[in-house]
Amino acid sequence: MPSLNTNPAPCPVCGAQHKQEAIDAALKTCPVCGYHYRMEPRDRIQYLTDPNSFTEFSANLTSLNPIDLSGYEEKLSEAEVKAKMKDAVITGTCTIEGKPLVLGLMSFNFMGGSMGSVVGEKVTRAMLKAAEEKLPLIIYTTSGGARMQEGIFSLLQMAKTSSAAAELDKAGLPFFIVLCDPTTGGVTASFAMLADVTLAEPGALIGFAGPRVIEGTIRQTLPEGFQRAEFQLEKGFVDMIVKRQDQKRILSELIDLHRAAPSDSSGIKERM
Ligand SMILES: [Zn+2]
Repeated sequence: MPSLNTNPAPCPVCGAQHKQEAIDAALKTCPVCGYHYRMEPRDRIQYLTDPNSFTEFSANLTSLNPIDLSGYEEKLSEAEVKAKMKDAVITGTCTIEGKPLVLGLMSFNFMGGSMGSVVGEKVTRAMLKAAEEKLPLIIYTTSGGARMQEGIFSLLQMAKTSSAAAELDKAGLPFFIVLCDPTTGGVTASFAMLADVTLAEPGALIGFAGPRVIEGTIRQTLPEGFQRAEFQLEKGFVDMIVKRQDQKRILSELIDLHRAAPSDSSGIKERM
């Protein structure tokens, strides 16, 4: 229904009204104030990777409902239709400005980007593939946390992804995270905070528990902008906030900067 697409709600920050086409042309940001709307993996692949370079792997993994929770299979089927994905993360190889890498992208549309056994396995495989093929790894995160419907199996993914991240570290390969709105819970408490360089999109909510839960627990009013990317940058949890329009260039530069030094890297040369 095109009429729904031509008149989206006004920008939540500046109130400007734009046609959907104008927001899409600005990579789903507000053309006036730059507010970043949430974006799905398929759209990110479009602006981030070189044309037709993305090759998905581990595409057909699905959850076995490990704790036999009633209704979970139905929820997964609904999520698959809504997000047009088989679970909450897509992983693949691609190039950015000609440089090969492994890329993972999460979707908040698939059960709030929650991490169950499939997300944990795909993130782990992406890390191990990067380590094996000596490629840099970039993961775009957005998540409400652990997948409650998988009980202890969802919590296990925190340890599993964290130990796979350590393999990248051992192999001396660069790992970059781009924190998108929102990144919280078990994903923040595991691989999302283990990158060599942690980038964030402007305004992204980044934290463990949400602000309402914290306010309710400590019975204090939280400061303005608490847990937003800008606040986390000031507090040292985020290294850099990068607008969507700049992400391809910045990530490409970071890959160049972190390119593994050749084995003969003594820094001296003998003149013959
Ligand atoms: Zn705006």
